[in-house]
Amino acid sequence: MLAEELVLKQRTKILHALCSSGSAEHLERVLDILLAQGALIWEDYQNIQVPGRTLYTNARQLLDLVYTKGVDTCGLFLHALKLVLPEAQAVGLSFSESCSNLEENDERQSTSNQTLLAQRPSLVHKLQGCVDGVLEALLDSGHFSSADCDEVRLPIYTPTQQARRLLDHVRSRGDLAASVLLQYIHQKQEPGLPLNQRELTPPKEFLKYQKKLSSSVSAQACFLSTYGGTSHMSLDDIYTDGELELAEVNAHGPLGLEDIVGLAGIVNEEADTVLVSGEAGSGKSTLLQRLHLLWARGLALQDFLLLFPFSCRRLNSEHNELSVQELLFQHCCWPDRNQEEIFQFILDHPHQILFTFDGLDELKQSFTDEHRVCCPTQRAPVHVLLFNLIQGSLMKGVQKVVTSRSEAVSPLLKKHLRKEVVLKGFSPAGIDCFVRKHHRDPTVAAKVLESMQANTALLGLCHSPVLCWIVSQCHKELLGCGEGSPKTITDVYLMILQHFLQHQSPLKSTMGLGWLQEHLKTVLLLGQLAFEGIRSTCYIFSGTDLEACGVTEKDICMVFLIKSKDMSSTHSKCYEFSHVTLQCFFAALFIVLSSNTNRSVIPKLFELENMRETGLTRVCFGACLPSSDQQQQASEKESKAAETPNLQITAMFVSGLLSQRHQNLWLHCCPSAAVEKKARQVAKCLSKGIQKHFRSIPQPVQGEKKSMHAMPDFVWLIKCLYEMQESQIAKDAMSKLEVDHLKLTYCNIGPVECTALAYVLQHLRNPVGLQLDNNSVGDVGVEQLLPCMHICNSLYLRNNNITDEGIRKLIAKVIQCDSFQKIALFNNKLTDACMQDFSYLLKTKQVFISLRLGNNNITAEGATQLAEGLKVNQTLAYLGLWGNRIGDAGTEALASSLEKSNSLVWLSLVGNGVGSAGACALANLIRKSTSLQELWLRNNDLSLEDVEEMKQLESRLIF
Ligand code: ADP
Repeated sequence: MLAEELVLKQRTKILHALCSSGSAEHLERVLDILLAQGALIWEDYQNIQVPGRTLYTNARQLLDLVYTKGVDTCGLFLHALKLVLPEAQAVGLSFSESCSNLEENDERQSTSNQTLLAQRPSLVHKLQGCVDGVLEALLDSGHFSSADCDEVRLPIYTPTQQARRLLDHVRSRGDLAASVLLQYIHQKQEPGLPLNQRELTPPKEFLKYQKKLSSSVSAQACFLSTYGGTSHMSLDDIYTDGELELAEVNAHGPLGLEDIVGLAGIVNEEADTVLVSGEAGSGKSTLLQRLHLLWARGLALQDFLLLFPFSCRRLNSEHNELSVQELLFQHCCWPDRNQEEIFQFILDHPHQILFTFDGLDELKQSFTDEHRVCCPTQRAPVHVLLFNLIQGSLMKGVQKVVTSRSEAVSPLLKKHLRKEVVLKGFSPAGIDCFVRKHHRDPTVAAKVLESMQANTALLGLCHSPVLCWIVSQCHKELLGCGEGSPKTITDVYLMILQHFLQHQSPLKSTMGLGWLQEHLKTVLLLGQLAFEGIRSTCYIFSGTDLEACGVTEKDICMVFLIKSKDMSSTHSKCYEFSHVTLQCFFAALFIVLSSNTNRSVIPKLFELENMRETGLTRVCFGACLPSSDQQQQASEKESKAAETPNLQITAMFVSGLLSQRHQNLWLHCCPSAAVEKKARQVAKCLSKGIQKHFRSIPQPVQGEKKSMHAMPDFVWLIKCLYEMQESQIAKDAMSKLEVDHLKLTYCNIGPVECTALAYVLQHLRNPVGLQLDNNSVGDVGVEQLLPCMHICNSLYLRNNNITDEGIRKLIAKVIQCDSFQKIALFNNKLTDACMQDFSYLLKTKQVFISLRLGNNNITAEGATQLAEGLKVNQTLAYLGLWGNRIGDAGTEALASSLEKSNSLVWLSLVGNGVGSAGACALANLIRKSTSLQELWLRNNDLSLEDVEEMKQLESRLIF
């Protein structure tokens, strides 16, 4: 089909793919490419990007224009779209083979302004992190005024939008301004110039080494290890983009893989280490694996000549002191010749070298910057080398990417970070995409997706890639279980246990509950191995370790244990659990089933205490455990931080396994009395743990509300309560909580945590304000929260990736909740499409007090719809629309609807493109309103006269 036809036929789909996220980033990136290719001229661009118009209208305008320009432009457009859209959003779109190729626009660019245009996509990328610097240079050179700078820096813009606004402004200031910008970028880029711009001729031996390293990296990275024992899934076939976000900067635009080492979001220019953090199973190792593969194939990170991948798990078993040179060559790739020359080249070109360290949280020692090593040939224990590399005291200039679970990242480590990127797992579209890739048969995929969607608790769990994998893997069990479909994380892991045990059983006889009994011996052996491993921070097991626990070849065949990958292949035949969470699950099974564990294991587990001295005699892990008592004490102290996340996961599984719902499973496997006793112990520990949190709530200052700021462990206890699924225990725990405000900001709350929170919080006795700002709640999380909305009087969900879809469901619920009065949704992905819902909320709920919708994508159209609700509402006191694009028309609609309000005391329209017409309407509002006390209007297009006029009416009011 011709490109023109494709554009026309897929118009609706393309519009949806470009605009449905509410972010303008995709559209703007397509425009960048088309401008650079010369497919659009500057005037076209200005006709498309009309300020104050909706995203959809702009995108429609682009489609019209591209279509009228003919087949070549349509081809370029489709190609640009393919490059820009994340895989999940491109599903179902056809880009045709006839798409034109995007080539470097190497037409001679005779002016700097032409260069700005031709290199626009890469300039937008390069400008991130240095917009302020360029603005300063332009200010110094007199090309920009401070008002120009303010306009570029407007907080409504994301970092990429700021970069584009900067380019647009520079263009309008002429060629000299453009050359200032280009010069700045050139200087900034000097150390890391891309390969093709560099005068660099590495020695021949180096090139040979590079080839050897990249083929070794490629071989290690092309298969996904979890599938090692089950099916041969290549990374290319299964890899699905996860959601990546900057931890520090609020950026709307989705981050791509290359942005991890890119300029976006740098918080410390001096540091060389980027941290990718995320929950267990969120896909951190897989993401690194993908980066390795793309580098080895020459498809990404081509600014780096060498990439050295390390696994902290494997570094744990390196007991010799090494130098950096030995670390690189022995652990990654051995040079056949000229080691010294190759290493010297690495030392001379640090900016072209990348190290990756997977699983810093699995390293036995916690990060410290106490021991200094600066010389790359000096030997030191491997963890000391690693910490010095991270700090940059060793191999300064070499970029390092480190992954770790979020809870294991200490403030000390944060001090040394260039930036932190958070991997949030799959988006809803990502789940869809993953399941379709996992099941090649589209009917099976559709059925699996349908059954996931029918169970929102399960769907919430599937945001975690590891759980999504398990659920997809066990699709037969999932589709066959009807009513009993899994709800908790423990349910999902029990499903995979049953799946693999029954697959292994030659008779496939035991379909009922007997499956566990039949394989009890294996489960206990693997359980003991896992348990001992968790207690000693050991994740890789040698043949001797297995033997010591009595694990045989047959047990190994069970896929729960896989052969450990090791690049240097010095450790023959080592094994590890196919995922660390699976090790925790087996450890929990052991705690529940074994009669050998000490009575204090459960209390110690819930107090997250070191369990090393308890219980079983140490039978194995000679390599993992130090010998002398003194050493042991030191190592216990050091490894505490690394253990905590795994102890928490294990405790969560113990709670789930001891739930009343699963008691039948254990019937013929261990004495019921013992299991019941353990269940009582867990219930007691949970209740004690929660009480401890309540006791820490300070008495409120007079006149203020009693507020509890939850510690991270609180969310973990809530998750344990959910896993137990005993509503009486949850009820008892919550009945003692007496607060007015529950603050859970920056607590890594995603859909899974929302399900648990709603399950537990619904038992609160009095309504609370629930503050969940700066988490990853998303639309699915919002849906999970609905069951506890009746105990909420205010809901704070700032910066949580929520779209119109989530709002629609939320509002349908909260209009039935009597106490619900306030909502804050600053910095989400809301568009005009949900303003009707808010309007309905305002009309229906005449107790509603505060609506804060700052930094979303609301335009005049949305404001007009909102105004309909405002006309009728008599209670709203606070309305925040800071950083939207409502313009004059929106302001007029709002102002006229608020004239009769007796309740509104505070209104913010900061940064909304309000001009004289809007000011005039606001002046009218000031004249007529009897209640308004504050009106915030900074960063608009108001003239001095507009402001003066309004101030004359009421000067105390305008800010
Ligand atoms: P983490 O390192 O964060 O604990 P992993 O990368 O080990 O998580 O992911 C666990 C499992 O989840 C993988 O083995 C794989 O099955 C699945 N998975 C994770 N990320 C992806 C992805 N981006 N695409 C496809 N599958 C993934």
